[in-house]
Amino acid sequence: MSEPNGSRCCGCGAPIGRDEAAITKRLVNRGTTRYYCKACLAGAFGVTVEDIDRRIRYYKQTGCTLFCSL
Ligand SMILES: [Zn+2]
Repeated sequence: MSEPNGSRCCGCGAPIGRDEAAITKRLVNRGTTRYYCKACLAGAFGVTVEDIDRRIRYYKQTGCTLFCSL
């Protein structure tokens, strides 16, 4: 188990927060150890940062286990 605190975005080097670590796992791969910031995720998936924020809220509301443990 690697703690995402202190991780940096693999795309741009920005610090990764807990939400970003969780959404990266949700969108990319549950077992990933490479995290991406919202801006890089948005670019990779062809959506906006607002869409990523909306997904984070959605997954929190639906009780996704990746977010529940935060
Ligand atoms: Zn980034």
